[in-house]
Amino acid sequence: PARPATAPRLRPEDVFIAVKTTRKNHGPRLGLLLRTWISRARRQTFIFTDGDDPELQLQGGGHVINTNCSAVHTRQALCCKMSVEYDKFIESGRKWFCHVDDDNYVNPKGLLQLLSTFSPSQDIYLGRPSLDHPIEATERIQGGGTVTTVKFWFATGGAGFCLSRGLALKMSPWASLGGFMSTAERVRLPDDCTVGYIVEGLLGARLLHSSLFHSHLENLQKLSPDTLLQQVTLSYGGPENPHNVVNVAGGFSLQQDPTRFKSIHCLLYPDTDWCPVQKQS
Ligand code: UDP
Ligand code: MN
Repeated sequence: PARPATAPRLRPEDVFIAVKTTRKNHGPRLGLLLRTWISRARRQTFIFTDGDDPELQLQGGGHVINTNCSAVHTRQALCCKMSVEYDKFIESGRKWFCHVDDDNYVNPKGLLQLLSTFSPSQDIYLGRPSLDHPIEATERIQGGGTVTTVKFWFATGGAGFCLSRGLALKMSPWASLGGFMSTAERVRLPDDCTVGYIVEGLLGARLLHSSLFHSHLENLQKLSPDTLLQQVTLSYGGPENPHNVVNVAGGFSLQQDPTRFKSIHCLLYPDTDWCPVQKQS
């Protein structure tokens, strides 16, 4: 059916995809992403890192942001990055904010299709819940010794999640210009939990649970090969868990493509110059 004139089709440039990375991952992880999905989502993708790298700057075409956050895996450092991602998104004026990690494959067409089923002016928070129940957190109210508990769902950062502009704007008292870090300290939770806390705990909006986002906390081998190309994000287990990868057949062996991202990419975009030539059917 034809769309009403008031709802223009969602364009790729309406989406802001923030990729969180760190200096030491530029070589091992970013290179693969730049050669695969980012090459098909250049204008939508912004890379948030913590160290200067002229080579990455060149490859990233002006879309690499040095957050100047410290390069450690602490709540403060990770929340510092999320805070910069948020501010840059607000500044961009785009309709959708999506966050992913540097071990995620994003299916740009799938993401656009999913987001186009919603309006960016609605309160939309979309992702895969980390737990099968809401998390319960202790909330410290500034100044006094008052401690209360809050229960809320949150989307796993490692599977990627999205926020509509409408909801992101409502988050600004707790998220903008460094406020995100103070909010995270109030509940002493990681960046992705803090997003859930602001959305559900403080604003009373809800996480829309989606099974199209995937992190390596799941068993990725269990994803049905017939539905792989419809998923919005994928991931891989990495050196600690090399067998936790999606089950995809194709021109690349496990040795040639240990993450399986190249194989997925060649199924989605077979015209890529480095993909194996397809057999005539
Ligand atoms: N990361 C970061 N700073 C660090 C360590 C990791 O920004 O000091 C980022 C990393 O680039 C990735 C995300 O945090 O996007 C998750 O890291 P990783 O996949 O290594 O660990 P996980 O939490 O998934 O086990
Ligand atoms: Mn990871």
